[in-house]
Amino acid sequence: MFKRPLSPLRVFLAATVILVALGLYVVANAIQFASDYRSVTHTYNVLRHLDRIESLKHQAVAESRGYLLAGRAENRDNFWRIGGELQRESDLLTEKVEDNTGQHRRAIDLRRSLDDRLRLSVLAMQSWRPGAPGLAKGMPTLTAIRAGDRDVAARLRQLRNAEGALLSMRSRRAERSAWLTLFAAGIGIPLSLLLIGHAQRLLARENRERKTAEAAASMSNSELNATIEQLARLSDSMAALSQYSSMLQGASDAQELYEITATTFRQLLPGLGGMLYVIRASRDHAELVAQWGLAVAPNDPVPAPQSCWSVRRHAPYAMEDLRHGLRCSHIGRPAGAEDVHGLCVPLSAHGEVVGWLSVQGEGRGRVAGESLAVRLCEQLSLALANVRLRESLRHQAIRDPLTGLFNRRYLEESLTREIARCQRRQQPLAVMMLDVDHFKAFNDRHGHAMGDVALAAFARMLKDKCRAEDIACRYGGEEFTLILPETDLATVLERAEDIRSSASLLRIGAPGGAALRITVSIGIALMPQHGDVGLELMRAGDRALYRAKHEGRDRVVVADDVVTSDRG
Ligand code: GH3
Ligand code: MG
Ligand code: MG
Repeated sequence: MFKRPLSPLRVFLAATVILVALGLYVVANAIQFASDYRSVTHTYNVLRHLDRIESLKHQAVAESRGYLLAGRAENRDNFWRIGGELQRESDLLTEKVEDNTGQHRRAIDLRRSLDDRLRLSVLAMQSWRPGAPGLAKGMPTLTAIRAGDRDVAARLRQLRNAEGALLSMRSRRAERSAWLTLFAAGIGIPLSLLLIGHAQRLLARENRERKTAEAAASMSNSELNATIEQLARLSDSMAALSQYSSMLQGASDAQELYEITATTFRQLLPGLGGMLYVIRASRDHAELVAQWGLAVAPNDPVPAPQSCWSVRRHAPYAMEDLRHGLRCSHIGRPAGAEDVHGLCVPLSAHGEVVGWLSVQGEGRGRVAGESLAVRLCEQLSLALANVRLRESLRHQAIRDPLTGLFNRRYLEESLTREIARCQRRQQPLAVMMLDVDHFKAFNDRHGHAMGDVALAAFARMLKDKCRAEDIACRYGGEEFTLILPETDLATVLERAEDIRSSASLLRIGAPGGAALRITVSIGIALMPQHGDVGLELMRAGDRALYRAKHEGRDRVVVADDVVTSDRG
Protein backbone atom coordinates (compact mmCIF):
# COMPACT_ATOMS: atom_id res chain seq x y z
CA MET A 1 0.00 0.00 0.00
CA PHE A 2 1.22 3.50 -0.74
CA LYS A 3 2.46 5.05 2.50
CA ARG A 4 1.89 8.78 2.83
CA PRO A 5 4.80 10.51 4.53
CA LEU A 6 3.93 12.38 7.76
CA SER A 7 3.42 16.06 7.16
CA PRO A 8 5.71 18.34 9.23
CA LEU A 9 2.62 20.19 10.51
CA ARG A 10 1.28 16.97 12.06
CA VAL A 11 4.59 16.20 13.69
CA PHE A 12 4.78 19.73 15.09
CA LEU A 13 1.22 19.31 16.36
CA ALA A 14 2.14 16.02 18.10
CA ALA A 15 5.18 17.67 19.72
CA THR A 16 3.01 20.58 20.88
CA VAL A 17 0.36 18.22 22.32
CA ILE A 18 3.04 16.30 24.23
CA LEU A 19 4.59 19.50 25.58
CA VAL A 20 1.21 20.94 26.60
CA ALA A 21 0.19 17.64 28.29
CA LEU A 22 3.55 17.52 30.03
CA GLY A 23 3.13 21.12 31.20
CA LEU A 24 -0.39 20.43 32.50
CA TYR A 25 0.81 17.31 34.26
CA VAL A 26 3.73 19.17 35.90
CA VAL A 27 1.40 21.99 36.99
CA ALA A 28 -1.12 19.50 38.44
CA ASN A 29 1.69 17.72 40.25
CA ALA A 30 3.10 20.99 41.53
CA ILE A 31 -0.34 21.94 42.87
CA GLN A 32 -0.62 18.52 44.50
CA PHE A 33 2.88 18.85 45.81
CA ALA A 34 2.14 22.25 47.32
CA SER A 35 -1.00 20.91 48.96
CA ASP A 36 0.92 17.91 50.30
CA TYR A 37 3.59 20.25 51.57
CA ARG A 38 0.96 22.32 53.37
CA SER A 39 -0.53 19.11 54.87
CA VAL A 40 2.88 17.98 56.09
CA THR A 41 3.49 21.38 57.71
CA HIS A 42 0.01 21.16 59.19
CA THR A 43 0.79 17.69 60.59
CA TYR A 44 4.03 18.94 62.09
CA ASN A 45 2.08 21.82 63.65
CA VAL A 46 -0.45 19.38 65.05
CA LEU A 47 2.36 17.22 66.45
CA ARG A 48 3.98 20.31 67.98
CA HIS A 49 0.63 21.21 69.60
CA LEU A 50 0.37 17.65 70.94
CA ASP A 51 3.93 17.85 72.32
CA ARG A 52 3.12 21.18 73.92
CA ILE A 53 -0.17 19.85 75.33
CA GLU A 54 1.66 16.88 76.81
CA SER A 55 4.34 19.09 78.24
CA LEU A 56 1.80 21.61 79.70
CA LYS A 57 -0.20 18.71 81.14
CA HIS A 58 2.96 17.39 82.84
CA GLN A 59 3.80 20.89 84.08
CA ALA A 60 0.25 21.41 85.42
CA VAL A 61 0.34 18.02 87.18
CA ALA A 62 3.82 18.81 88.57
CA GLU A 63 2.61 22.24 89.92
CA SER A 64 -0.47 20.60 91.50
CA ARG A 65 1.76 17.93 93.07
CA GLY A 66 4.11 20.66 94.27
CA TYR A 67 1.28 22.42 95.88
CA LEU A 68 0.00 19.22 97.49
CA LEU A 69 3.49 18.56 98.87
CA ALA A 70 4.54 22.01 100.00
CA GLY A 71 1.30 23.95 100.01
CA ARG A 72 2.94 26.82 98.27
CA ALA A 73 0.47 29.24 96.75
CA GLU A 74 2.91 29.84 93.92
CA ASN A 75 2.46 26.22 92.80
CA ARG A 76 -1.31 26.57 92.84
CA ASP A 77 -1.18 29.84 90.91
CA ASN A 78 1.18 28.23 88.38
CA PHE A 79 -1.22 25.29 88.12
CA TRP A 80 -4.06 27.62 87.25
CA ARG A 81 -2.00 29.54 84.67
CA ILE A 82 -0.64 26.40 83.08
CA GLY A 83 -4.06 24.73 83.17
CA GLY A 84 -5.50 27.79 81.32
CA GLU A 85 -2.68 27.57 78.76
CA LEU A 86 -3.32 23.87 78.38
CA GLN A 87 -7.00 24.48 77.71
CA ARG A 88 -6.19 27.20 75.12
CA GLU A 89 -3.66 24.91 73.51
CA SER A 90 -6.22 22.13 73.44
CA ASP A 91 -8.78 24.49 71.83
CA LEU A 92 -6.22 25.55 69.23
CA LEU A 93 -5.61 21.90 68.43
CA THR A 94 -9.33 21.24 68.06
CA GLU A 95 -9.53 24.16 65.64
CA LYS A 96 -6.48 22.95 63.75
CA VAL A 97 -7.89 19.50 63.08
CA GLU A 98 -11.39 20.69 62.31
CA ASP A 99 -11.05 19.60 58.61
CA ASN A 100 -10.31 16.00 59.64
CA THR A 101 -13.38 14.44 61.25
CA GLY A 102 -11.51 11.58 63.02
CA GLN A 103 -8.82 13.85 64.43
CA HIS A 104 -11.40 16.50 65.33
CA ARG A 105 -13.37 13.92 67.33
CA ARG A 106 -10.14 12.69 68.97
CA ALA A 107 -9.10 16.30 69.81
CA ILE A 108 -12.48 16.85 71.49
CA ASP A 109 -11.99 13.58 73.38
CA LEU A 110 -8.47 14.72 74.39
CA ARG A 111 -9.90 17.99 75.58
CA ARG A 112 -12.46 16.15 77.63
CA SER A 113 -9.78 13.80 79.11
CA LEU A 114 -7.53 16.80 79.92
CA ASP A 115 -10.42 18.59 81.57
CA ASP A 116 -11.18 15.42 83.58
CA ARG A 117 -7.54 15.06 84.61
CA LEU A 118 -7.23 18.79 85.52
CA ARG A 119 -10.45 18.51 87.41
CA LEU A 120 -8.92 15.64 89.50
CA SER A 121 -5.91 17.84 90.28
CA VAL A 122 -8.19 20.75 91.17
CA LEU A 123 -10.18 18.42 93.44
CA ALA A 124 -7.00 17.21 95.11
CA MET A 125 -5.73 20.75 95.65
CA GLN A 126 -9.13 21.88 97.01
CA SER A 127 -9.25 18.87 99.45
CA TRP A 128 -5.72 19.59 100.67
CA ARG A 129 -5.46 21.19 104.14
CA PRO A 130 -2.19 22.38 105.51
CA GLY A 131 -0.91 20.03 108.19
CA ALA A 132 -3.25 17.26 107.24
CA PRO A 133 -1.20 15.25 104.87
CA GLY A 134 -2.56 12.05 103.44
CA LEU A 135 -5.91 11.38 102.13
CA ALA A 136 -8.37 14.07 103.02
CA LYS A 137 -12.04 13.98 102.40
CA GLY A 138 -12.96 14.41 98.71
CA MET A 139 -9.37 13.77 97.69
CA PRO A 140 -9.43 11.77 94.41
CA THR A 141 -7.89 8.34 94.61
CA LEU A 142 -4.51 7.57 93.12
CA THR A 143 -6.21 5.00 90.89
CA ALA A 144 -8.51 7.68 89.45
CA ILE A 145 -5.56 9.98 88.89
CA ARG A 146 -3.53 7.26 87.14
CA ALA A 147 -6.58 6.33 85.06
CA GLY A 148 -6.92 10.03 84.08
CA ASP A 149 -3.19 10.18 83.14
CA ARG A 150 -3.50 6.99 81.07
CA ASP A 151 -6.60 8.34 79.40
CA VAL A 152 -4.84 11.58 78.40
CA ALA A 153 -1.77 9.63 77.28
CA ALA A 154 -3.97 7.27 75.23
CA ARG A 155 -5.78 10.21 73.57
CA LEU A 156 -2.47 11.89 72.79
CA ARG A 157 -1.10 8.66 71.37
CA GLN A 158 -4.18 8.15 69.22
CA LEU A 159 -3.87 11.70 67.86
CA ARG A 160 -0.12 11.26 67.24
CA ASN A 161 -0.60 7.90 65.52
CA ALA A 162 -3.31 9.27 63.26
CA GLU A 163 -1.13 12.32 62.35
CA GLY A 164 1.87 10.01 61.80
CA ALA A 165 -0.16 7.86 59.42
CA LEU A 166 -1.31 11.00 57.56
CA LEU A 167 2.26 12.29 57.41
CA SER A 168 3.70 9.11 55.97
CA MET A 169 0.81 8.87 53.46
CA ARG A 170 1.37 12.49 52.30
CA SER A 171 5.13 12.04 52.14
CA ARG A 172 4.76 8.93 50.01
CA ARG A 173 2.32 10.74 47.71
CA ALA A 174 4.62 13.77 47.36
CA GLU A 175 7.58 11.53 46.64
CA ARG A 176 5.62 9.55 44.06
CA SER A 177 4.39 12.66 42.29
CA ALA A 178 7.96 14.09 42.26
CA TRP A 179 9.23 10.88 40.65
CA LEU A 180 6.35 10.81 38.17
CA THR A 181 7.01 14.43 37.22
CA LEU A 182 10.68 13.65 36.71
CA PHE A 183 9.79 10.58 34.65
CA ALA A 184 7.23 12.43 32.54
CA ALA A 185 9.69 15.27 31.91
CA GLY A 186 12.49 12.78 31.21
CA ILE A 187 10.38 11.07 28.51
CA GLY A 188 8.23 13.94 27.25
CA ILE A 189 10.94 16.59 26.76
CA PRO A 190 13.34 14.41 24.69
CA LEU A 191 10.37 12.98 22.76
CA SER A 192 9.02 16.39 21.85
CA LEU A 193 12.56 17.57 20.98
CA LEU A 194 12.89 14.53 18.72
CA LEU A 195 9.55 15.29 17.10
CA ILE A 196 10.49 18.94 16.55
CA GLY A 197 13.79 17.86 15.00
CA HIS A 198 11.96 15.38 12.77
CA ALA A 199 9.44 18.04 11.78
CA GLN A 200 12.29 20.37 10.85
CA ARG A 201 13.87 17.66 8.73
CA LEU A 202 10.51 17.01 7.04
CA LEU A 203 10.09 20.73 6.45
CA ALA A 204 13.56 20.98 4.92
CA ARG A 205 12.82 17.97 2.72
CA GLU A 206 9.47 19.44 1.66
CA ASN A 207 11.23 22.68 0.89
CA ARG A 208 13.80 20.90 -1.23
CA GLU A 209 11.12 18.89 -3.01
CA ARG A 210 9.09 22.03 -3.65
CA LYS A 211 12.14 23.80 -5.09
CA THR A 212 12.94 20.79 -7.26
CA ALA A 213 9.33 20.64 -8.42
CA GLU A 214 9.37 24.39 -9.13
CA ALA A 215 12.62 24.04 -11.05
CA ALA A 216 11.21 21.06 -12.96
CA ALA A 217 8.02 23.00 -13.69
CA SER A 218 9.92 26.03 -14.94
CA MET A 219 12.22 23.75 -16.96
CA SER A 220 9.33 21.90 -18.55
CA ASN A 221 7.79 25.29 -19.28
CA SER A 222 10.89 26.51 -21.08
CA GLU A 223 11.20 23.12 -22.82
CA LEU A 224 7.61 23.50 -23.98
CA ASN A 225 8.33 27.00 -25.33
CA ALA A 226 11.45 25.71 -27.06
CA THR A 227 9.45 22.86 -28.58
CA ILE A 228 6.77 25.29 -29.79
CA GLU A 229 9.47 27.51 -31.33
CA GLN A 230 11.09 24.47 -32.87
CA LEU A 231 7.75 23.35 -34.29
CA ALA A 232 7.11 26.82 -35.69
CA ARG A 233 10.58 26.85 -37.23
CA LEU A 234 10.06 23.33 -38.54
CA SER A 235 6.75 24.28 -40.10
CA ASP A 236 8.37 27.37 -41.72
CA SER A 237 11.21 25.19 -42.96
CA MET A 238 8.76 22.59 -44.30
CA ALA A 239 6.84 25.30 -46.17
CA ALA A 240 10.10 26.76 -47.52
CA LEU A 241 11.34 23.30 -48.47
CA SER A 242 8.15 22.42 -50.24
CA GLN A 243 8.19 25.74 -52.13
CA TYR A 244 11.85 25.21 -53.06
CA SER A 245 11.09 21.68 -54.17
CA SER A 246 8.19 22.73 -56.40
CA MET A 247 10.28 25.54 -57.94
CA LEU A 248 13.12 23.10 -58.64
CA GLN A 249 10.71 20.74 -60.32
CA GLY A 250 9.47 23.57 -62.51
CA ALA A 251 13.03 24.51 -63.59
CA SER A 252 13.63 23.89 -67.28
CA ASP A 253 17.41 23.52 -67.13
CA ALA A 254 20.36 23.33 -64.78
CA GLN A 255 21.05 27.07 -64.99
CA GLU A 256 17.60 27.77 -63.59
CA LEU A 257 18.26 25.31 -60.76
CA TYR A 258 21.38 27.23 -59.80
CA GLU A 259 19.56 30.55 -59.83
CA ILE A 260 16.63 29.21 -57.77
CA THR A 261 19.10 27.70 -55.29
CA ALA A 262 21.04 30.92 -54.83
CA THR A 263 17.83 32.92 -54.33
CA THR A 264 16.35 30.36 -51.89
CA PHE A 265 19.51 30.14 -49.75
CA ARG A 266 19.76 33.92 -49.66
CA GLN A 267 16.16 34.12 -48.40
CA LEU A 268 16.09 31.18 -45.97
CA LEU A 269 19.61 31.43 -44.56
CA PRO A 270 20.20 35.17 -44.81
CA GLY A 271 23.32 35.20 -42.60
CA LEU A 272 25.20 32.83 -44.90
CA GLY A 273 27.08 33.27 -48.12
CA GLY A 274 27.43 30.30 -50.44
CA MET A 275 28.92 28.68 -53.52
CA LEU A 276 27.47 25.92 -55.64
CA TYR A 277 29.82 23.58 -57.48
CA VAL A 278 28.82 21.06 -60.13
CA ILE A 279 31.21 18.28 -61.11
CA ARG A 280 31.87 18.17 -64.85
CA ALA A 281 31.09 15.10 -66.92
CA SER A 282 34.83 14.38 -67.11
CA ARG A 283 34.73 14.17 -63.25
CA ASP A 284 38.19 15.70 -62.93
CA HIS A 285 37.00 19.18 -62.14
CA ALA A 286 34.02 20.98 -60.72
CA GLU A 287 32.61 24.26 -61.90
CA LEU A 288 31.49 27.15 -59.71
CA VAL A 289 27.98 27.60 -61.13
CA ALA A 290 26.45 29.97 -58.55
CA GLN A 291 27.59 32.12 -55.65
CA TRP A 292 25.88 34.52 -53.27
CA GLY A 293 26.77 36.84 -50.37
CA LEU A 294 30.26 35.39 -50.13
CA ALA A 295 31.99 35.57 -46.73
CA VAL A 296 35.13 33.88 -48.09
CA ALA A 297 36.38 33.98 -51.69
CA PRO A 298 36.67 30.63 -53.50
CA ASN A 299 40.21 29.40 -53.86
CA ASP A 300 39.80 28.03 -57.37
CA PRO A 301 36.89 28.48 -59.82
CA VAL A 302 37.45 24.94 -61.18
CA PRO A 303 38.55 22.90 -58.15
CA ALA A 304 39.04 19.14 -58.11
CA PRO A 305 36.09 17.28 -56.52
CA GLN A 306 38.53 15.87 -53.93
CA SER A 307 39.15 19.41 -52.65
CA CYS A 308 35.87 19.15 -50.72
CA TRP A 309 35.74 16.98 -47.58
CA SER A 310 32.00 16.49 -47.98
CA VAL A 311 32.60 14.89 -51.42
CA ARG A 312 35.34 12.67 -50.03
CA ARG A 313 33.24 11.59 -47.06
CA HIS A 314 29.89 11.45 -48.91
CA ALA A 315 28.44 13.35 -45.92
CA PRO A 316 28.00 16.98 -44.81
CA TYR A 317 31.21 18.48 -43.41
CA ALA A 318 30.95 21.23 -40.78
CA MET A 319 33.84 23.66 -40.26
CA GLU A 320 33.38 25.48 -36.94
CA ASP A 321 36.46 27.67 -37.40
CA LEU A 322 37.57 28.22 -40.99
CA ARG A 323 40.61 30.26 -39.99
CA HIS A 324 42.22 27.72 -37.66
CA GLY A 325 40.44 24.44 -38.28
CA LEU A 326 40.75 21.96 -41.14
CA ARG A 327 38.89 23.43 -44.11
CA CYS A 328 38.15 22.26 -47.63
CA SER A 329 40.86 23.51 -49.99
CA HIS A 330 38.35 25.00 -52.45
CA ILE A 331 37.58 27.64 -49.78
CA GLY A 332 40.08 30.49 -49.53
CA ARG A 333 41.55 31.70 -46.22
CA PRO A 334 39.24 34.28 -44.53
CA ALA A 335 40.55 37.73 -45.45
CA GLY A 336 39.54 39.98 -42.51
CA ALA A 337 40.07 39.55 -38.78
CA GLU A 338 36.58 38.08 -38.20
CA ASP A 339 36.09 34.39 -37.46
CA VAL A 340 34.23 32.42 -40.11
CA HIS A 341 32.50 29.06 -39.93
CA GLY A 342 31.10 26.94 -42.73
CA LEU A 343 29.42 23.81 -43.97
CA CYS A 344 29.83 21.78 -47.16
CA VAL A 345 27.08 19.40 -48.28
CA PRO A 346 27.60 16.87 -51.08
CA LEU A 347 24.99 16.80 -53.83
CA SER A 348 24.53 13.17 -54.65
CA ALA A 349 21.90 11.46 -56.67
CA HIS A 350 21.55 7.78 -57.53
CA GLY A 351 24.71 7.03 -55.52
CA GLU A 352 26.86 9.46 -57.49
CA VAL A 353 28.18 12.79 -56.20
CA VAL A 354 27.32 15.41 -58.81
CA GLY A 355 28.56 18.48 -56.94
CA TRP A 356 28.52 20.21 -53.60
CA LEU A 357 27.19 23.28 -51.90
CA SER A 358 29.33 25.28 -49.53
CA VAL A 359 27.98 27.93 -47.12
CA GLN A 360 29.87 30.23 -44.77
CA GLY A 361 28.89 32.68 -42.05
CA GLU A 362 30.62 35.01 -39.63
CA GLY A 363 31.74 33.81 -36.19
CA ARG A 364 32.65 30.36 -34.91
CA GLY A 365 30.47 27.31 -34.33
CA ARG A 366 27.94 25.27 -36.25
CA VAL A 367 25.98 26.79 -39.12
CA ALA A 368 22.60 28.10 -37.92
CA GLY A 369 19.96 26.21 -39.90
CA GLU A 370 22.36 23.36 -40.71
CA SER A 371 19.61 20.77 -41.01
CA LEU A 372 17.58 23.08 -43.27
CA ALA A 373 20.63 23.56 -45.49
CA VAL A 374 21.11 19.78 -45.67
CA ARG A 375 17.44 19.23 -46.55
CA LEU A 376 17.60 21.93 -49.25
CA CYS A 377 20.66 20.20 -50.69
CA GLU A 378 18.81 16.86 -50.77
CA GLN A 379 16.10 18.53 -52.85
CA LEU A 380 18.71 20.19 -55.06
CA SER A 381 20.51 16.86 -55.59
CA LEU A 382 17.32 15.21 -56.77
CA ALA A 383 16.45 18.12 -59.04
CA LEU A 384 19.99 18.19 -60.46
CA ALA A 385 19.82 14.47 -61.17
CA ASN A 386 16.45 14.92 -62.87
CA VAL A 387 17.65 17.82 -64.98
CA ARG A 388 20.78 15.87 -65.95
CA LEU A 389 18.67 12.89 -66.91
CA ARG A 390 16.34 15.10 -68.90
CA GLU A 391 19.29 16.82 -70.60
CA SER A 392 20.91 13.51 -71.41
CA LEU A 393 17.67 12.13 -72.88
CA ARG A 394 17.20 15.30 -74.84
CA HIS A 395 20.82 15.19 -75.93
CA GLN A 396 20.33 11.63 -77.13
CA ALA A 397 17.15 12.68 -78.91
CA ILE A 398 18.63 15.65 -80.75
CA ARG A 399 22.31 14.76 -81.16
CA ASP A 400 24.06 12.56 -83.63
CA PRO A 401 26.11 10.03 -81.68
CA LEU A 402 29.12 9.90 -84.01
CA THR A 403 29.78 13.62 -84.33
CA GLY A 404 27.92 15.09 -81.33
CA LEU A 405 26.25 17.57 -83.73
CA PHE A 406 22.50 18.12 -83.76
CA ASN A 407 20.53 15.63 -85.84
CA ARG A 408 18.18 16.22 -88.74
CA ARG A 409 15.06 16.29 -86.55
CA TYR A 410 16.53 19.08 -84.44
CA LEU A 411 17.68 20.86 -87.56
CA GLU A 412 14.13 21.06 -88.96
CA GLU A 413 12.74 22.19 -85.60
CA SER A 414 15.34 24.83 -84.97
CA LEU A 415 15.44 26.13 -88.54
CA THR A 416 11.74 27.01 -88.33
CA ARG A 417 12.30 28.68 -84.90
CA GLU A 418 15.38 30.62 -86.03
CA ILE A 419 13.65 31.82 -89.23
CA ALA A 420 10.77 33.16 -87.12
CA ARG A 421 13.15 34.86 -84.71
CA CYS A 422 15.16 36.54 -87.49
CA GLN A 423 11.98 37.62 -89.25
CA ARG A 424 10.75 39.22 -86.00
CA ARG A 425 14.02 41.11 -85.72
CA GLN A 426 14.12 41.79 -89.48
CA GLN A 427 17.48 40.14 -89.68
CA PRO A 428 18.83 37.86 -92.47
CA LEU A 429 19.55 34.16 -91.98
CA ALA A 430 21.91 31.91 -93.89
CA VAL A 431 21.91 28.15 -94.40
CA MET A 432 24.97 26.19 -95.52
CA MET A 433 24.63 22.67 -97.01
CA LEU A 434 27.95 20.83 -96.74
CA ASP A 435 28.88 17.48 -98.38
CA VAL A 436 32.20 15.67 -98.17
CA ASP A 437 33.57 15.05 -101.66
CA HIS A 438 34.04 11.53 -103.01
CA PHE A 439 33.45 10.05 -99.63
CA LYS A 440 32.38 6.73 -100.98
CA ALA A 441 35.83 6.43 -102.53
CA PHE A 442 37.40 7.52 -99.18
CA ASN A 443 35.56 4.72 -97.43
CA ASP A 444 36.47 2.27 -100.10
CA ARG A 445 40.09 3.21 -99.89
CA HIS A 446 40.61 3.62 -96.13
CA GLY A 447 37.81 1.63 -94.62
CA HIS A 448 34.52 2.62 -93.04
CA ALA A 449 36.12 3.13 -89.59
CA MET A 450 38.55 5.67 -90.99
CA GLY A 451 35.56 7.22 -92.72
CA ASP A 452 34.00 7.66 -89.30
CA VAL A 453 37.18 9.24 -87.95
CA ALA A 454 37.15 11.67 -90.88
CA LEU A 455 33.49 12.58 -90.26
CA ALA A 456 34.17 13.16 -86.53
CA ALA A 457 37.23 15.32 -87.29
CA PHE A 458 35.28 17.38 -89.80
CA ALA A 459 32.42 17.81 -87.27
CA ARG A 460 34.87 18.98 -84.58
CA MET A 461 36.30 21.56 -86.93
CA LEU A 462 32.81 22.68 -87.89
CA LYS A 463 31.82 23.10 -84.25
CA ASP A 464 34.95 25.13 -83.57
CA LYS A 465 34.06 27.47 -86.38
CA CYS A 466 30.56 28.03 -84.99
CA ARG A 467 29.42 31.06 -83.01
CA ALA A 468 27.20 30.48 -79.96
CA GLU A 469 24.07 31.25 -81.96
CA ASP A 470 24.96 28.98 -84.94
CA ILE A 471 23.42 25.52 -85.14
CA ALA A 472 25.57 22.78 -86.69
CA CYS A 473 23.79 19.56 -87.72
CA ARG A 474 24.59 16.27 -89.36
CA TYR A 475 21.95 16.06 -92.02
CA GLY A 476 22.76 12.44 -92.76
CA GLY A 477 25.72 10.34 -94.00
CA GLU A 478 28.55 12.70 -94.99
CA GLU A 479 26.15 15.66 -95.38
CA PHE A 480 26.02 18.56 -92.89
CA THR A 481 23.93 21.71 -92.44
CA LEU A 482 24.86 24.91 -90.67
CA ILE A 483 22.24 27.48 -89.68
CA LEU A 484 23.62 30.99 -89.23
CA PRO A 485 21.05 33.40 -87.77
CA GLU A 486 21.51 37.14 -88.39
CA THR A 487 24.13 36.50 -91.08
CA ASP A 488 24.28 38.33 -94.39
CA LEU A 489 25.69 37.12 -97.71
CA ALA A 490 29.14 38.59 -97.25
CA THR A 491 29.60 37.06 -93.84
CA VAL A 492 28.30 33.66 -94.78
CA LEU A 493 30.55 33.57 -97.81
CA GLU A 494 33.51 34.43 -95.72
CA ARG A 495 32.62 31.80 -93.09
CA ALA A 496 31.92 29.14 -95.75
CA GLU A 497 35.23 29.79 -97.35
CA ASP A 498 36.93 29.50 -93.98
CA ILE A 499 35.24 26.15 -93.33
CA ARG A 500 36.01 24.85 -96.77
CA SER A 501 39.70 25.73 -96.53
CA SER A 502 39.92 24.42 -92.95
CA ALA A 503 38.42 21.11 -94.10
CA SER A 504 40.99 20.80 -96.81
CA LEU A 505 43.70 21.41 -94.26
CA LEU A 506 42.52 18.64 -91.91
CA ARG A 507 45.00 15.83 -91.40
CA ILE A 508 43.06 12.68 -90.71
CA GLY A 509 44.47 9.40 -89.51
CA ALA A 510 45.96 7.38 -86.72
CA PRO A 511 49.16 8.67 -85.14
CA GLY A 512 52.12 7.33 -87.10
CA GLY A 513 50.00 6.57 -90.16
CA ALA A 514 49.70 8.61 -93.40
CA ALA A 515 47.67 11.81 -93.02
CA LEU A 516 44.47 11.53 -95.07
CA ARG A 517 42.74 14.51 -96.50
CA ILE A 518 39.23 15.43 -97.46
CA THR A 519 37.56 18.28 -99.23
CA VAL A 520 34.08 19.64 -98.89
CA SER A 521 31.56 21.34 -101.16
CA ILE A 522 29.25 23.98 -99.71
CA GLY A 523 25.92 25.34 -101.02
CA ILE A 524 24.52 28.52 -99.49
CA ALA A 525 20.94 29.80 -99.33
CA LEU A 526 19.80 33.03 -97.71
CA MET A 527 16.63 34.36 -96.18
CA PRO A 528 14.90 36.35 -97.47
CA GLN A 529 16.58 36.12 -100.96
CA HIS A 530 15.95 32.37 -101.51
CA GLY A 531 12.88 31.82 -99.39
CA ASP A 532 11.45 32.33 -95.97
CA VAL A 533 10.48 28.73 -95.19
CA GLY A 534 12.95 26.14 -93.91
CA LEU A 535 12.30 23.58 -96.63
CA GLU A 536 12.66 26.18 -99.39
CA LEU A 537 15.96 27.39 -98.03
CA MET A 538 17.30 23.87 -97.68
CA ARG A 539 16.27 22.99 -101.22
CA ALA A 540 17.92 26.17 -102.46
CA GLY A 541 21.04 25.29 -100.47
CA ASP A 542 20.95 21.74 -101.91
CA ARG A 543 20.69 23.07 -105.42
CA ALA A 544 23.70 25.28 -104.79
CA LEU A 545 25.60 22.28 -103.39
CA TYR A 546 24.68 20.21 -106.44
CA ARG A 547 26.10 22.93 -108.60
CA ALA A 548 29.27 23.04 -106.52
CA LYS A 549 29.72 19.28 -107.12
CA HIS A 550 29.12 19.74 -110.78
CA GLU A 551 31.48 22.57 -111.02
CA GLY A 552 34.33 20.46 -109.62
CA ARG A 553 33.78 20.11 -105.83
CA ASP A 554 35.82 21.72 -102.98
CA ARG A 555 34.04 25.03 -103.48
CA VAL A 556 31.34 27.31 -102.17
CA VAL A 557 28.25 28.13 -104.28
CA VAL A 558 25.43 30.48 -103.39
CA ALA A 559 21.94 29.52 -104.57
CA ASP A 560 20.64 31.02 -107.76
CA ASP A 561 24.13 31.95 -108.66
CA VAL A 562 23.99 35.18 -106.72
CA VAL A 563 27.67 34.90 -105.93
CA THR A 564 30.06 32.09 -106.63
CA SER A 565 33.34 31.32 -105.04
CA ASP A 566 35.28 28.98 -107.22
CA ARG A 567 38.45 27.27 -106.47
CA GLY A 568 38.46 24.86 -109.36
P1 GH3 B 1 30.20 13.09 -103.92
O1 GH3 B 1 31.47 13.81 -104.00
O2 GH3 B 1 29.39 13.28 -105.16
O3 GH3 B 1 29.42 13.53 -102.73
O4 GH3 B 1 30.56 11.63 -103.83
P2 GH3 B 1 30.34 10.71 -102.58
O5 GH3 B 1 31.01 9.44 -102.77
O6 GH3 B 1 30.68 11.45 -101.39
O7 GH3 B 1 28.79 10.55 -102.61
P3 GH3 B 1 27.87 9.28 -102.37
O8 GH3 B 1 26.50 9.81 -102.06
O9 GH3 B 1 27.90 8.46 -103.63
O10 GH3 B 1 28.46 8.45 -101.25
C1 GH3 B 1 28.34 8.81 -99.95
C2 GH3 B 1 29.07 7.83 -99.14
O11 GH3 B 1 29.18 8.20 -97.79
C3 GH3 B 1 28.39 6.49 -99.14
C4 GH3 B 1 28.57 5.96 -97.75
O12 GH3 B 1 29.32 4.84 -97.74
C5 GH3 B 1 29.31 7.05 -97.07
N1 GH3 B 1 28.74 7.18 -95.75
C6 GH3 B 1 27.51 7.65 -95.41
N2 GH3 B 1 27.37 7.66 -94.07
C7 GH3 B 1 28.56 7.20 -93.56
C8 GH3 B 1 29.02 6.97 -92.22
O13 GH3 B 1 28.37 7.19 -91.27
N3 GH3 B 1 30.30 6.50 -92.09
C9 GH3 B 1 31.11 6.24 -93.12
N4 GH3 B 1 32.31 5.81 -92.92
N5 GH3 B 1 30.67 6.41 -94.36
C10 GH3 B 1 29.43 6.90 -94.61
MG1 MG C 1 26.31 12.98 -100.29
MG1 MG D 1 29.67 13.33 -100.88
